[in-house]
Amino acid sequence: MKQIKFFLLFTIMTFTFFSCSEDNLGLEDLNQPTIEEHTHTSIFGKRTCSSHEHMQELLSDPAYKAAREKRMEKYMRYKSQNVNQRSTSCNNPTVLPIAIHYQGIPNPNASCLIALAQSQIQALNKDFRGTNSDISNWSDNAASSFPGISNGEACLSFQIADKNHPAGYGLQDGDLAVTINKTNGDLDNKWSGYLNMYIQFGTGVLGYAPLGGAGNGDGVVIEATAFGVGGGCGSVSPAAPYNLGRTTTHEVGHYLNLDHIWGGGCGQDDGVADTPNSDQEYYDCPNVGENSCGSVDMHMNYMDYTNDACMYMFSAGQATVVENYVSASLSLISNNASNVISGANNENDNDDSDNDDNSDDDDSSNDDDNDNSGNDDDNSDDNDNSDNSDNSDDSDDDSDNTACDKASELVANVTGETTASISWTGYNSAIRYKLRYKEVSGGRYTRMNTKATNASLEGLIADTEYQYQVRVRCSTGWTNWTATEYFTTDASNDEGGTTAGCTDLNIEVTTDDYGNETSWYIVDEYGDVVAEGGPYDDGYAGDVFDQDVCLPDGCYTLTIADEYGDGLCCSYGDGGLVVTDNSGSVQLSSDGNFGSYEDIDFCISNTDVQSKGVKNDAKKTSARQAAKYTRK
Ligand SMILES: [Zn+2]
Repeated sequence: MKQIKFFLLFTIMTFTFFSCSEDNLGLEDLNQPTIEEHTHTSIFGKRTCSSHEHMQELLSDPAYKAAREKRMEKYMRYKSQNVNQRSTSCNNPTVLPIAIHYQGIPNPNASCLIALAQSQIQALNKDFRGTNSDISNWSDNAASSFPGISNGEACLSFQIADKNHPAGYGLQDGDLAVTINKTNGDLDNKWSGYLNMYIQFGTGVLGYAPLGGAGNGDGVVIEATAFGVGGGCGSVSPAAPYNLGRTTTHEVGHYLNLDHIWGGGCGQDDGVADTPNSDQEYYDCPNVGENSCGSVDMHMNYMDYTNDACMYMFSAGQATVVENYVSASLSLISNNASNVISGANNENDNDDSDNDDNSDDDDSSNDDDNDNSGNDDDNSDDNDNSDNSDNSDDSDDDSDNTACDKASELVANVTGETTASISWTGYNSAIRYKLRYKEVSGGRYTRMNTKATNASLEGLIADTEYQYQVRVRCSTGWTNWTATEYFTTDASNDEGGTTAGCTDLNIEVTTDDYGNETSWYIVDEYGDVVAEGGPYDDGYAGDVFDQDVCLPDGCYTLTIADEYGDGLCCSYGDGGLVVTDNSGSVQLSSDGNFGSYEDIDFCISNTDVQSKGVKNDAKKTSARQAAKYTRK
């Protein structure tokens, strides 16, 4: 019995994950023609990127799947908590350490290959920051075809690591992290904490990358003739039309969680709100104004398949995706920056997304940034002490009314599952205080300004470890942050809900004629299936099946799945799903109009059910498949 249960759970987990990934992957894209169709001509006559095939392979490993799901959950949660927080300026970009690994290079010219790597990283930075010279094509020509859409400028800085290299690669401090013929394949765990670039010959495609990288030694793979800019180094020379470094921009886009811009066709979005739907990829160099799905297509986007010279922008929405993904799920890489790059200190960069909170900080946020960037330069690990030269520790004497220094005696008092209060000792002469806190596991800081020496935090996540710091605004400027302190919110307890410890919900499924294809399951934030139902019997369109579940406070994904990929509605009956609470009011629903799955994200807090968004894939139709294969 136990074994059967385990098997069932495992199957469901597997399917759940595949369903989730499908949203990003675009199931049908897994079937798109790649190398086989091109091997008889020049395989690089058209851009080819096998990231989707690569993902399918990776996802066949349950451990990889589970880890990726965690990253995506973190990303989704981070995203939902950081809406509208994008910076408009970028004073402190998040630094991502890069390592470049050339493989199988005959008679390598090391200094040339290093220069080539630098040319690539320079191009990459420009592309992501929107400072590429051909961005003028967007502003001068293309933008008017996309009213209301701006090009994106991601606040990231890619830098080749230059110190504390892993042993065994012949690299000294001061050398750039460029290895030649010392690695194989597309993963080297010794290079965990880096965004790796594996430069290979004969990949059969221009490149590939995981959709949402891990930082565990993984990275992007780039064909040797599509890497870097300029004259190149013998066999490793960028060849037109892929000679502007944009294969790497595209693959790093995947690594930072961007899908192809056409998603899976008109009905299947790429998950980015401001990129118009497009029915399929573009090649070569199309004219601005080409359209599909009722809107002008953004084929000049780095996530399309056009030539290097004909792609020149990310959208603002894409920039937000990559920033959020880096913040939420790539701390393994960003936190490594200060260890492996001279002068980099992402601890502060991340924390000081003060660029983002001008609203609460108005004019003084500039002082803030200035303070910190000064500290970044002369203090590579933490900045606790660097201001003490002008505010000596001895001035802590409270009897001195003009004294003002770092806050001390920070105390956190956890007052519930989602609340805590923080207090500290400050100074009479202090103008105000700033508190920042975040989950230890990732994400950006939430900040609070106060004139009091305490603050109440609300909306926290139950049973979660948080870190926090305080700084003081003195007449002379901001002090540094205190050392980081921690607290953990209470675990979910027995309050709230109609049954002790949980909230009652009724899941009601109406089947179409193919009930045997239909199932549903609810996964909690740890990836565990906590409730499930179906499959049902075929031939009973309109039948209603219901099941009671009781869920503790927390966030969940309810997936309604159709094994065939044509949803529950509306060709073979009007199926769907409705979730009601104890009073009978509908809290969540699906109209059954999707392909193989619809995911409904929701959170429960004290019997209150909040939908956090819905995603699904498009129906499988043979017509759309056929169209995909006919474009040249
Ligand atoms: Zn791609």
